Amino acid sequence: MKKILIISCVLMGFAMSAQNPQTKKITKKFFPDTEEVLNTTPALQKKRGFTDYEELLDFLNNLVEKYPDQISISFIGESQKGREIPMVKLTAPNAKEKIKVWMQGGLHGNEPASTESMLYLLDRLLNDESYADILNNVELAVVPMANIDGYLKNNRYAANGLDLNRDQTKLMAPETVVLKKAYAEFNPEVAVDFHEYRPYRRDYARMGDFGVTNMYDAMFLYSGNLNIPENLRNLTNGLFVENARQLLDKNEYTHHPYISSTKHYGDIHINQGSISARSSATNNALTNTISSLIEIRGVALGKTSFKRRMHSSFLIAVSYLRSAAENIQLVKDEIKKATSQENDVVINYERGVYKDKVQFIDVSAAEYVEFEMTIRDAWKAKAKLKRPRPKAYIIDAKRTLLIEKLETLGIKVRYLDEEKDYEVEQYIVESYSKKPIRYEKMKLQSVEVSLVKENKTFPKGTAVIMMDQRRANLASIVLEPEAPNSFVSFGVLETQKGETLPIYRLINEAQ
Ligand SMILES: [Zn+2]
Repeated sequence: MKKILIISCVLMGFAMSAQNPQTKKITKKFFPDTEEVLNTTPALQKKRGFTDYEELLDFLNNLVEKYPDQISISFIGESQKGREIPMVKLTAPNAKEKIKVWMQGGLHGNEPASTESMLYLLDRLLNDESYADILNNVELAVVPMANIDGYLKNNRYAANGLDLNRDQTKLMAPETVVLKKAYAEFNPEVAVDFHEYRPYRRDYARMGDFGVTNMYDAMFLYSGNLNIPENLRNLTNGLFVENARQLLDKNEYTHHPYISSTKHYGDIHINQGSISARSSATNNALTNTISSLIEIRGVALGKTSFKRRMHSSFLIAVSYLRSAAENIQLVKDEIKKATSQENDVVINYERGVYKDKVQFIDVSAAEYVEFEMTIRDAWKAKAKLKRPRPKAYIIDAKRTLLIEKLETLGIKVRYLDEEKDYEVEQYIVESYSKKPIRYEKMKLQSVEVSLVKENKTFPKGTAVIMMDQRRANLASIVLEPEAPNSFVSFGVLETQKGETLPIYRLINEAQ
């Protein structure tokens, strides 16, 4: 009996250390836990594990019971395992013009501080008078546990194995569809997606004598995609991220723009920022919204420094809410300005590449170390392929799958009520290749197209996507065939060499 007990303890000890790679020395020196967070959320009220589904619903229902005028729950749809996904809306019942802010956590199921900090945020906004200014000016929607099935298994992916933060243009997971619909319906001016990142990566284990670890409490990911109007990119970084950075500094938490390692011909490079419309930071920004994704240092750390992780996440949430509450008119005006711009569509791009010093924590020495590394920077991206912005895109009415996905993304689709002649550009597929291995359950296609002008008669019922709408930039990115996250690239619209695509560009004003 005794022997078995010892063996199981050893096994458990091994399993624990395999799960959490961080030494106590590093935790104590760089990431001591904080007492700034009250034990008001479910995971803080128990020794082991994180908030489960029943605890989540109980927690939200208790708030609704206590504050029925300020908070309400609805369910946006079901997870693949049939669990209803709650969304809460908060605001003060006054007649003031408000700004709408969307926040979500738990899109990746193994990033528990993201969900827990959303619950803590709800608790504080309602129970602490000092946040009353926020709800007086903001209408807030929160989806605290976006990927419930993954969350309950502490697993990054949805039940069918899809990564919900790579699925936002092909829209294959039911969770993505309901989240995008709820997002479009709410129609926020500001959107923040809370995550945690993995500080111990295989690439980092190869650096230094015995490996290094990422040192930042928080990293900010705001998109460098060139189709996002420059005024919104500047407002995101210059106001929202900047205010959050200052609040973290005041609380002595470290932060940095988002970085992650990437392999480049066998060498380890650093990717900085993101451009990719399949992920939330860019996808939401392409709806002409102030958008950020927040990465907190936490994946695989269990409950180590859990309150510290929650607290840094919470401070960022509060900062974004205050920035929104204090700049309602400015943000609305800039979104309007962004929506009236008529820039070219940037279809493909190259990241800026340069060398710079990057700081880490050396794992064995428990000291800061610095390496000169190659940075591939999304915020210094240059356009590789551009095309003039059309007045509209036109899609054959039979292509219902494409049209349905556009509508899920909140893109407005009009239907011709009579037959019309238009001069359009057609896409002819000049070169074609298909990846043999699946990525996120799809075989990626890559194409080169030529554009051919033609007068074409479109029957009644043909779908028209006008480009003077707020989500036009997102429409371009899924409809221009060579764009890396387009319907064609992801194989949603299958094609082959020599084909004419069922998508057309309207160059002159539609009558
Ligand atoms: Zn994540």
